[in-house]
Amino acid sequence: MTDFNALGLAEPLLRALADEGYTTPTPIQAQAIPLVLQGRDLLGIAQTGTGKTAAFALPLLHHLAARRAQAPRGGCRALILSPTRELASQIHDNIRAYGRHLGLSSTVVFGGVGARPQIQALARGVDILVATPGRLLDHVQAGVARLQTVEVLVLDEADQMLDRGFWPAIRKLTGMMSKNRQTLFFSATMPTEIAKIANELLQDPAKVSVTPVASTAERVEQRLIHIDASRKRLLLAEMLRDPAIGRALVFARTKHGADRVAKHLVAEGINAHAIHGDRSQGQRERALAEFRNGRAPILVATDIASRGIDVDGVTHVFQFDLPDTPEAYVHRIGRTARAGASGEAVAFCAPDELAKLKAVEKLIAMRIPAEDRRSEAARAEAATAAPKPQPPRGGRGGRPQGAGRPQGQGRPQGAGRGGMPPRAGMPERKDRSWRNADFRDGGR
Ligand code: AMP
Repeated sequence: MTDFNALGLAEPLLRALADEGYTTPTPIQAQAIPLVLQGRDLLGIAQTGTGKTAAFALPLLHHLAARRAQAPRGGCRALILSPTRELASQIHDNIRAYGRHLGLSSTVVFGGVGARPQIQALARGVDILVATPGRLLDHVQAGVARLQTVEVLVLDEADQMLDRGFWPAIRKLTGMMSKNRQTLFFSATMPTEIAKIANELLQDPAKVSVTPVASTAERVEQRLIHIDASRKRLLLAEMLRDPAIGRALVFARTKHGADRVAKHLVAEGINAHAIHGDRSQGQRERALAEFRNGRAPILVATDIASRGIDVDGVTHVFQFDLPDTPEAYVHRIGRTARAGASGEAVAFCAPDELAKLKAVEKLIAMRIPAEDRRSEAARAEAATAAPKPQPPRGGRGGRPQGAGRPQGQGRPQGAGRGGMPPRAGMPERKDRSWRNADFRDGGR
């Protein structure tokens, strides 16, 4: 198993990653970071949720710190272009978090807000600039920003930038940069038009790609069980007694939840361990060893802890709780279908998790075949209470599931109007209202 230490990143970056609780690089990080550190141009095919931001941000920060230089007045050393202000802000937050021990300067520039603070920050010069193309072009044309000093250029979500009509602006911006720069190009999809643009911008690029989330969802046999929160533990124990279960990962949302579930299983005579950030290294190693050798073939994990579990042959994934972000649902079910294998994934959904379910089904663009094992009381609760959006997301919620609709077929709920809003600060590809909002100010 690769860990971050093996990738050749500077010590202050490793420290920041430890602060963040990251232990294992995601596949796109493991593939991309060594190549970018070598100075190669990169063509990355990866969606949001794969860890792609750190895949470019970490080697970029490493490069800037390794070759310290004065931030150029009116310019920057690294430029990250993003299609939306939400994504730009999020990238900037990540840059600050990963670079917190490096003392590099950064700023973010996007439309829809006053230009003056941006002009002041640009005039001083920064090491790293995150920007939407429209507003940055305004600054460049006004003589406020210069791009000749860009050493590393990142284009994130290139397909979205093309969709939003940013390509002419990007071409003007790149035309002002030195040809000696390193360019990292990320896109979730690679239609011919994007491939052509990549070809124009990149020099002998290394290529990395990770499985898009949708295809993981297609490979795994998924089931959903509507169940009262109070009866989840009994149902889990009952299902885990099935002899067809070889090795099962059970996901819980919190560390305490993982502990409670594992304790209950042990009390029911099922060999299970919990694994999460509060467990000592020794406890984690023992749990993993027994999971691997089959002595305790049930492991209850939090999402973060599960990233460090590199075990093939997981036959079943149970989601005791639905995750806070829909992408995590896909990561979880992907644990049972490694290296092209198939697997079975079962998710429990209590009445108060319907909004999360809706977000998941919107992301994977399918309705998960469901069965209803709720009590009459829980069914009534679900039918009357509209699902409330879970913090930190906001929004309108929607119609409860399981009431008056056939299960396991038809379009996913929330795929059209009135669906769950995207994850806080994240663009959501199919959410047209949001897109229009960005267009209203031309992304500037
Ligand atoms: P991204 O695809 O860049 O939007 O990242 C998706 C989420 O995964 C973000 O919330 C990151 O903070 C988180 N993340 C990225 N890399 C790792 C890692 N190696 N371990 C744990 N979490 C990570």
